[in-house]
Amino acid sequence: MTYTKESVDVVLIGGGIMSATLGAMLAELQPEWEIRLYERLDYVARESSDPWNNAGTGHAALCELNYSPADAQGNVDITKAVNINEQFHVSRQFWSYLVDEGVITDPKTFISQVPHISYGRGEKGRDYIRARYETMVRNPLFADMEYSDDPAQHAEWLPLMFENRGPGQVNGISRFELGTDVDFGSLSRQLLTHISSKGAQIRTGHSVTDLNRNADGWRVTVKDSTAADSFNVNAKFVFIGAGGGALQLLQKSGIAEGKGYGGFPVSGLFLRTSNPDLVSRHHAKVYGQAAIGAPPMSVPHLDTRVVAGKEYLMFGPYAGFSPKFLKSGRITDLPFSVRGNNLPVMLNVAKDNFDLVRYLVGELASSKKSRYSALADFTPEVDPADWEFITAGQRVQVMKRDPEKGGVLGFGTELISAADGSIAALLGASPGASTAAPIMLNLLATCFPQQYAGWESKLKTMVPSLGRKLHEDETLLHELSEYTARTLQLT
Ligand SMILES: Cc1cc2nc3c(=O)[nH]c(=O)nc-3n(C[C@H](O)[C@H](O)[C@H](O)COP(=O)(O)OP(=O)(O)OC[C@H]3O[C@@H](n4cnc5c(N)ncnc54)[C@H](O)[C@@H]3O)c2cc1C
Repeated sequence: MTYTKESVDVVLIGGGIMSATLGAMLAELQPEWEIRLYERLDYVARESSDPWNNAGTGHAALCELNYSPADAQGNVDITKAVNINEQFHVSRQFWSYLVDEGVITDPKTFISQVPHISYGRGEKGRDYIRARYETMVRNPLFADMEYSDDPAQHAEWLPLMFENRGPGQVNGISRFELGTDVDFGSLSRQLLTHISSKGAQIRTGHSVTDLNRNADGWRVTVKDSTAADSFNVNAKFVFIGAGGGALQLLQKSGIAEGKGYGGFPVSGLFLRTSNPDLVSRHHAKVYGQAAIGAPPMSVPHLDTRVVAGKEYLMFGPYAGFSPKFLKSGRITDLPFSVRGNNLPVMLNVAKDNFDLVRYLVGELASSKKSRYSALADFTPEVDPADWEFITAGQRVQVMKRDPEKGGVLGFGTELISAADGSIAALLGASPGASTAAPIMLNLLATCFPQQYAGWESKLKTMVPSLGRKLHEDETLLHELSEYTARTLQLT
């Protein structure tokens, strides 16, 4: 029989960046609350938050073209880009607070300044990048963006990509010097070490297997992989921060708000090199345009990565299809997630996203040669001996009900919470880790309405712009940009 071990205030499920961020916020706001974190693997931050499972882009919509689409007339809509950039400023402020408080002693352990660049090829690509630049640069958030269609300037900004190209190249490039590369694995580990020092108990090798309501909140069933037995923990609040494993646990909770959701898994591969000659000739994250049918988050990009103090280049992701919901998951994850309430949604998504399915299946079948040729679009001289393939983390995109279409595929993140605020789950993966801080602030406001007013003044010391839009207040934007760049050592 499963025995009940204890009663606590908060259970966090999963040891990635989302639980780590929420745990760090709660440890500041309610230091007396008892927090337990359960992670099924033997180490924390080994799924999507591991630096080699994601691209490490500090998503601020500076270079990712899917956040600034153009219409048929070439007018660029930057609404999404403004929203993502505002969110990244919130993350920068929260991380700066952690540095100021000594929670993180050296910001270089997780964040590095790397210019963010967008790359449009041919006349059509160039025209789009220029139109995008002309729209964005008028917004205070993007005022420092630069643009060039001059090959000499391209070679100066991106020697590895443009130094040895012949004449006749037509490309448009925009550049934002103060972009970032983020090691979310290192950040997660530092936050978890901090909350553990404040009294939170972190248990690796412990899987949450069931969730049931009880009088005070939730009975959380946990399986200890070493002891091979299970126990229950009562919690007033539960956060399902289980990444790809979140959908399954949301379904187990049975909350009405979780009905109708499904998961669409997308696998990925990256190419990586540490060849010093290549690494020294490229210092940027360069995002291109999507191929037809490609999911927006799988647009290949050539990135400087900084992991444990060492620089690498990474190219990809090459998207593919695997039915697993976690990199360490099972091939039964997708079929076992089908329920009566999400089957119509999933069927509608399959019907309306045939291009995507065809693209992913095609990518799976593509040869090494065609993968190197995608890299050659960025850097003409490719020697396969310099590069190794690594398997990226699994993304689980959200499928959800839609009043008109029956079901739609979402590329963002969805915070789902019970009406009484006692449980919340995070589904989806874009913009993902970069926006963990604003997502968790939203969770605090949604799930803790009674405490939130009392927390606001402390939250404003963590995130001084809380409740305000920086693009509407240029003085505050400059003040906070300067403060966070200095604190995070980004210049
Ligand atoms: C290929 C790829 C590229 C990406 N690129 C970027 C990027 O450039 N920038 C960016 O900001 N974001 C990026 N993301 C998204 C980002 O990685 C994720 O949004 C983020 O890491 C999710 O954090 P998490 O804590 O929710 O999940 P995870 O880091 O996956 O952590 C969830 C944890 O829960 C554990 N778990 C699962 N089930 C259970 C259970 N039943 N019991 C206990 N523990 C459980 C897992 O083992 C895991 O450790 C990318 C993702 C992928 C896959």
